Amino acid sequence: MNESEKLFEKAKTLIPGGVNSPVRAFRAVGGSPLFIKSAKGPYIYDEDGRQYIELINSWGPMILGHAFEPVEKAVRDAIQYSFSFGAPTRKEVEMAELITQMVPSVEKVRMVNSGTEATMAAIRVARGFTGRDKIIKFEGCYHGHGDSFLIAAGSGAMTMGVPDSPGVTKATAADTLTAPYNDLAAVEVLLANNQNQIAAIILEPVVGNMGCVLPEPGFLEGIRTLCDKNGVLLIFDEVMTGFRLAKGGAQERFNIVPDLTTMGKIIGGGMPVGAYGGRAEIMNIVSPAGPVYQAGTLSGNPIAMSAGLAMLHYLNEHPDVYSRLEEVGNKLTDGFRSALLKTGLNYTINHVGSMFTLFMTERPVTNFSEAKSCDLPLFGRYFHAMLNRGVYLAPSQFESLFLSTALTDELVEQIIQANEESLTEAIT
Ligand code: PLP
Repeated sequence: MNESEKLFEKAKTLIPGGVNSPVRAFRAVGGSPLFIKSAKGPYIYDEDGRQYIELINSWGPMILGHAFEPVEKAVRDAIQYSFSFGAPTRKEVEMAELITQMVPSVEKVRMVNSGTEATMAAIRVARGFTGRDKIIKFEGCYHGHGDSFLIAAGSGAMTMGVPDSPGVTKATAADTLTAPYNDLAAVEVLLANNQNQIAAIILEPVVGNMGCVLPEPGFLEGIRTLCDKNGVLLIFDEVMTGFRLAKGGAQERFNIVPDLTTMGKIIGGGMPVGAYGGRAEIMNIVSPAGPVYQAGTLSGNPIAMSAGLAMLHYLNEHPDVYSRLEEVGNKLTDGFRSALLKTGLNYTINHVGSMFTLFMTERPVTNFSEAKSCDLPLFGRYFHAMLNRGVYLAPSQFESLFLSTALTDELVEQIIQANEESLTEAIT
């Protein structure tokens, strides 16, 4: 047994499933997870001293590579002043100002500690603001582990939600309606059948959580129009896409203005940070300005704010980051496409900017049921073949990969080569 395997065996006796977040356990691909000791730039190192090229980047935050110097320095500088005050700080004001500049639809913002907290708070605010109880989400979109979001689709868009996890009550599930992603007609039906009852529509403007799935032309515009017509708030969950698909997130890239936005991942530079914000008129109902309660002992933590601020400042002041990410994304996906041609496989690649997924299916993937048509055992073999060649992918078909600016052209070529060899190995 290697060190990772030994640690996993012990972890399983102490932590449910051996991990502190389920997908880390490698259940979807088989085998034993790597236990990570350190990471720098484009590389991650496991407890056995092996080096891997990073295509997960902590599920998104490490957009500039690991231990990026300005972020590391900001944290070092901050820790000398103590780690938490539970009182307002200058850095929180700077953070709020920077976020509102980078994401103009956000006029006021509240910091929290995770994406889950951000989405939970956002729907509470939407409910408080509209005086309505129900929300609409899309099948295959993940908004963290708040009860209201752990809802399966039932049998089609007309169906009331049913709990996806034991512990979520039927009453909670009944307030979450679901529709297939990219299906405007299904949303129209839900709105028509629940008039004056829907507080918000929440979606990932580009989905990362069923693999990378793009909004079809007109989908986001159509949702915006339906929200306006029906007095429903539009919540963009930009926990993955925020500060990644553009400085101002997917809303800038697709030119759609949501009412509320949830953020996470990059905003903390790798520290546990989330945020939600939107029009001042809506955010003014949040406590203590208004009656909708939301709080947090460690919210706006000074160390986390320092890391996040250093990250966002860098992104705000270096637009070349985004052109480089486009370039890396295009090079990699071009290379992956030519490997598919060479190996005679007609699989689907969905790609936008620095997010992409190679789906092991010949169908186009525009929603969750299409994503589920993938050959999952094949993905598992491909994943391990890539790992053996030193490339660390997300351990599930239903995830997006996240690129960083630490990837050099040489590393891109290495990944392309590993991909071609791994595909060939996986199909034979
Ligand atoms: N929303 C989206 C779109 C996410 O991708 C995630 C996590 O991956 C979350 C919310 C939840 O964020 P967290 O894991 O920080 O609670």
